[in-house]
Amino acid sequence: MSQQEPAHVVVAGAGLAGLAGAVWLAEAGHRVTLVEKRGRLGGRTISVEVAGVDGRVDNGQHLFAGCYDALLRYVHTIGTADLLRWDAPPFAIRTGPGQLLTLRAPSWLPATVRRVVGLSWLAWPPIPLRDRPAALRTWLRIARAALRPAPELDDLTVDRWFRRIGAPASLRALVLDQFVIGLLNERTERVSASLFVRTLHWIGGRAAAGNTRAGDAVWPRVSLHELFVAPAERYLAERGADIVAGSGVTDVEIAGDAVTGVRLADGRVIEADAVVLAVPPWSLTTLLDRGNLGRYDHFGPARKIEAAPISSVYVWLDRPLRMRRLAENLRDTTIEWVFDTSGMHGVETGAGHCYSLAVSASWDVVHLSNAEFTAAALASLARNYPEFAEAEVLRTHVIHQPKATFSAQPGFDDLRLPQRTPVAGLFLAGDWTDTGMPSTMEAAAESAARAVAAVREHLGDRPGSEGGARR
Ligand SMILES: Cc1cc2nc3c(=O)[nH]c(=O)nc-3n(C[C@H](O)[C@H](O)[C@H](O)COP(=O)(O)OP(=O)(O)OC[C@H]3O[C@@H](n4cnc5c(N)ncnc54)[C@H](O)[C@@H]3O)c2cc1C
Repeated sequence: MSQQEPAHVVVAGAGLAGLAGAVWLAEAGHRVTLVEKRGRLGGRTISVEVAGVDGRVDNGQHLFAGCYDALLRYVHTIGTADLLRWDAPPFAIRTGPGQLLTLRAPSWLPATVRRVVGLSWLAWPPIPLRDRPAALRTWLRIARAALRPAPELDDLTVDRWFRRIGAPASLRALVLDQFVIGLLNERTERVSASLFVRTLHWIGGRAAAGNTRAGDAVWPRVSLHELFVAPAERYLAERGADIVAGSGVTDVEIAGDAVTGVRLADGRVIEADAVVLAVPPWSLTTLLDRGNLGRYDHFGPARKIEAAPISSVYVWLDRPLRMRRLAENLRDTTIEWVFDTSGMHGVETGAGHCYSLAVSASWDVVHLSNAEFTAAALASLARNYPEFAEAEVLRTHVIHQPKATFSAQPGFDDLRLPQRTPVAGLFLAGDWTDTGMPSTMEAAAESAARAVAAVREHLGDRPGSEGGARR
């Protein structure tokens, strides 16, 4: 590469990790080619058209939090930060009609005090009196473990760890188990205690660093396509980046132990000074089976990473329900979350008032037919919102995502690969790479920030030069 020519970086995979990586590399002045196997960009944050509905519908409601620093920086870079709606913490548990446990504190209190007071019921939840001392001890043990996450916790599931620390069944049923599922998209009997504790450590760390809104919910006011994807495409086009969609990377070209480019499914070879593979582990496995990367044992652990499902049904009603929060977490019923999508977007379209009903770690329902799943979901609404009986269901749309997130089972800490690889010039990004975070949009964006920093170092970018990922 001559001094004058910008370095050429290929980013493979246009989910959030690939989009953020490409955007930040273009921001830093590099020539970027973004390659996406599918015909459209967005990966697991896509929005689709539904017959009879204006605008696009997301592949499932996405919630993010005030502690998502890297993702917030991404939306700032592409200019969509004002399309977010900030809300109080997303702890709103509906235990039946008219019964909602949620933030309750006088509005005149300063915001931070209000959150602490409002969430104090979590430490003293409405469970039998005899269980309350054990509940308090459980919270203290969780807090202590989160202060200094112990690697041994990766040998245990959350379920076993909760038993070990004496978490009362009543606290688990009301708060804890759903809290874990919501954070990690996996059942307590399957998910590693290490990831749970590390996640709390990470959120607490960002709060301790002065982010007073770290626990607050942040909702998209538009579709994920309008929030993350279309603006990134515009940003990249304005900076002369190439986007190749509909033909994936089938092999990484390597000479010696250094990357020279990528080979695409249509036979083209694109030369590059650096390559970022921002593909999920189950796609990396295909590259390992069929190509040059299979020679490196380093990538082997990615083969063992499994996926976990999320199932959603969008429901359009002729009238709104009487929800008190934009998101309510249900108990003892098929549906786990009810999201007021129209309320978040602040628009009521001709199609009706839209709700997204979602089940995380949806092992029990992911194989149901659309009709069966919809019937179970509507029964959940009827049980929890009596006014649903008066409403007319105008339209429904089911989305099962069998590979929504990774499934972090015990031993998972050893399967995550760092963003740097033994192949010079080759980097990894994606929610599953090593960030210590759960399978989230923030992990994807953070992995991109780390990969971009590593690429820039490899290419000899001047430290502190404009653009790129600040960490
Ligand atoms: C229904 C649902 C709900 C969710 N809810 C939340 C939530 O509330 N909060 C949250 O933070 N996270 C949530 N997530 C998780 C979040 O969406 C993901 O963690 C994140 O989007 C992953 O981004 P990624 O870039 O790492 O991977 P992906 O989005 O999977 O992107 C990888 C891309 O690589 C492409 N690709 C694969 N192989 C190749 C190849 N050989 N060549 C080129 N391209 C290739 C794929 O087509 C894909 O576009 C949810 C996910 C789903 C599905």
